[in-house]
Formats: sequence, structure tokens, C-alpha cells
Amino acid sequence: MSKTLQAIRGMNDILPEQTPVWRYLENTFAQLLDGYGYKEIRLPILEFTELFARGIGEGTDVVDKEMYTFLDRNEESLTLRPEGTAGCVRAVLEHGLTGGGQVQKLWYAGPMFRYEKPQKGRYRQFHQIGVEVFNQPGPDIDAELIVLTWRLWKKLGLADSVTLQLNSLGSSEARATYRDALVAYLRERFDQLDEDSQRRLTTNPLRILDSKNAQTQSLLADAPTLHDYLDEESRAHFEGLKARLDAVGIRYEINQKLVRGLDYYGRTVFEWVTDKLGAQGTVCAGGRYDGLVSQFGGKPTPGVGFAMGVERLVLLLETLELVPAELNSPAHAYLCAFGEPAELAALALAERLRDALPGLRLLVNAGGGSFKSQFKKADKSGASYALILGDDELANRVVGCKPLRTDGEQQNIAWNALAEHLAACMQA
Ligand code: ATP
Ligand code: MG
Repeated sequence: MSKTLQAIRGMNDILPEQTPVWRYLENTFAQLLDGYGYKEIRLPILEFTELFARGIGEGTDVVDKEMYTFLDRNEESLTLRPEGTAGCVRAVLEHGLTGGGQVQKLWYAGPMFRYEKPQKGRYRQFHQIGVEVFNQPGPDIDAELIVLTWRLWKKLGLADSVTLQLNSLGSSEARATYRDALVAYLRERFDQLDEDSQRRLTTNPLRILDSKNAQTQSLLADAPTLHDYLDEESRAHFEGLKARLDAVGIRYEINQKLVRGLDYYGRTVFEWVTDKLGAQGTVCAGGRYDGLVSQFGGKPTPGVGFAMGVERLVLLLETLELVPAELNSPAHAYLCAFGEPAELAALALAERLRDALPGLRLLVNAGGGSFKSQFKKADKSGASYALILGDDELANRVVGCKPLRTDGEQQNIAWNALAEHLAACMQA
């Protein structure tokens, strides 16, 4: 007997009962971004492996351990995108969208792929909604990105369930000086570091700062701190950002250990974190990457962006019971018809109703059936009304309209008055 086919571990089907909340999130976000003048960009899911190796950086978990990489039939090494920024930078360069200092304010949404250990809030195919801005070097745009995520939390009812963590990583020179100081400090304590951190000491020492190991964390208590090494410009940039967040009343916590997993960040980095989802608490993360475009061979171009995890936001909305009830609204009406002539008339009538009432949710019975069985299906569908069209109704050009959720008699409504009647029912 053949084995039942299954989805790949960590790659989830999003079932019909879940898609409404996904669409709600995506639509809320798209509408909000439209209000701030951001434009959508759609990017391929596959890119040349080199893009991510160069963009995200060797020595990062994503590149070293998490990418889905394979050779295609032409022996080219391709990778399923693990994040959206690298592809977005490639696209704006390829199409000259940032040439001559043009400002671009872009957003994207879609699946990302990382070979991780699947658990709640962490999957191998997951979805991000992200934003990238090019050619805006100031803290004003960093603030705008945070402000618009904050507005999203307010719209979704999540404002009290997430907190903002903020840091500045300084210039790459400042970071390099700090890295040396940190490495010198940790080298003296090498034996006390956990194994991952020992490895990172040579590959990516800043990542040791966000190690989950308790002993490593206690070692770090007396380590040199990043902000002692910040360059003057980065310090001013950071002050400018904080002043703007203060001006709109967004609270933040400065976390000097927030370094982010991807190599391309400098200056501003931030995360929105919740304590309602266990270990997978970061729902949105981003920062400034002024060096990335030139790393890809473009002219130096300031960039800043963020990405949020859709699965984690969906989980959060569900956990907090913030999914709006109207997302799963049943049909307004279920149209039953008995016999071929009535079925033909019912179909034509249904289409006229849809023309007249664009928001109408109307189910038309399919597969025939007795009065009893069709009525049962109407009831089970959750529709508010059953519409009934048999030989008598056909002859009199009326339909029977029976409320299914409230007490009330069946009423005969003339075909040409039905749209108006249903419109009133839809309002109720
Ligand atoms: P984490 O520390 O949780 O692994 P990350 O720093 O690797 O996150 P980013 O690359 O910054 O994550 O991605 C931005 C957001 O995408 C994260 O804050 C999270 O909400 C979401 N995300 C990242 N990886 C996954 C995953 N494997 N499954 C579900 N969501 C994810
Ligand atoms: Mg990760």
C-alpha cells in the first residue's frame, strides 16, 4: 500500500477557516501603508544563492544553516528566499529605481523559507510582510517606520500586547572597534562560553550578545557595551529617532544587546516583542542597512526596513481573541429551487441579485434534492434566510423568503422587489 502523502514538516496549509484572518491582516496592512504613500513590490521566491550569501552574510545562522539551496537543471545554485530585503535591493538596483537619489518607499508580502526546527511560531515556510525605504538617510524615516507599525498594532487591538526594543549599532567603523573590544574581553573567558558562542567568537561575535545561554549572559554583564563606542553621527541619529518617538508618545526600551541576526544592519535596529507567544516573541523586526546597496555593487544608498511574521501575528490575534467576528460571517441567503424550470429561473435571478447587491453573500443550492434536504442545507450553511423557488413561486414570479435565525413567517416577495428586500435584510 502506498504511504499517504503529507506536507513537508514546518510547511503549513492555511485552511479555509484560517484564511479570513490572514486576509484581514494583509488588507489592514496594505490599506495602512497606502495611507503613508508606500507602494507594493512583488518579487520572485527564488534567487541566485549568491544574492543571499553576499547580502545576508556568511557566518549568519540564516546563510550557514537555514537556507533551502539546490542546483537547478542548468547547474545554477538557487535558493528559496529566506527573507525579503536582499531580493528587494536586487530588484531596485536592476530596475534603476534608486538612481539619482530617488526615494523609494516599498512594501511586499509573501512566503519565506528557512530550514529551522519547527515549533509554535517558527516554521520552515512562513510569511512576512515587509517594508523597505531607500535614499532617506535621516532618523525621521526610521521613526516613520516605527510609527506606522505602532498604528498597525492600534488598528489590530495589539498596542498593549507588544513592546518596542530599540538599539543603535553605530557606524561600521564603530562596530568594528567595539567588536575587537568584545572579542578581547570574551577571549579571556573563552572556556566559560557556550559552544555556539565559542564558534561565533570567530564568525560573528556580536551575535554572542543575544545568546540564550544563561552563563554566557552573566559573562556579558561586565563586557564592554556598544554605546560606549558609538560614533558621534550615529549618536545624533539615535537621539533624533528617540525625540520623534517621544513626540508621538511611543514607549521604547533601549536594549544594547539587540543586534539582529542579519549582518547588513547598522545604526537603528528595533524589534516589537510580545510576552504572549512564549519563546517566539518577536513579531516585527527591522533596522537600517545603509551599506547593503553598495555591497551589491550599487552606488551608496541609504536603506531602512522591517519585516513582520504573519504567523506570529495570527497566533497573537487568536490567543488574545482579537479576531473580528464578522470575518467569518455566514451567507445572507441560501437559494433553494425545485425542478429544472425553477432551477433555471433561480440561477438567472441569483445573478440579477448579485448585480444589484455587490456585498451580497448568496449560496445557490446545487445538486437538487427534496424540499426537506435543501432546507436542511440552507439551515446548516448558517445563512440568515432561505429563498424558495418551486413551481407555484415560478408561476407567480415570487420567491418564498423564510428567516432562519429569527422567528418569522415565510413571506412571498416579487422577483422585482427581492433585491430591495434583501438589501434591508443585509442592513439588519
Ligand atoms: P528569530 O529570532 O525569531 O529567529 P529572526 O531574527 O530570524 O527571528 P527576521 O529575519 O528578523 O527574524 O524576520 C522578521 C520576522 O519574521 C521575525 O521577527 C518573525 O516574526 C518572523 N520570522 C522569522 N523567522 C520565522 C520562522 N521561521 N517562522 C515564523 N516566523 C518567522
Ligand atoms: Mg531566526
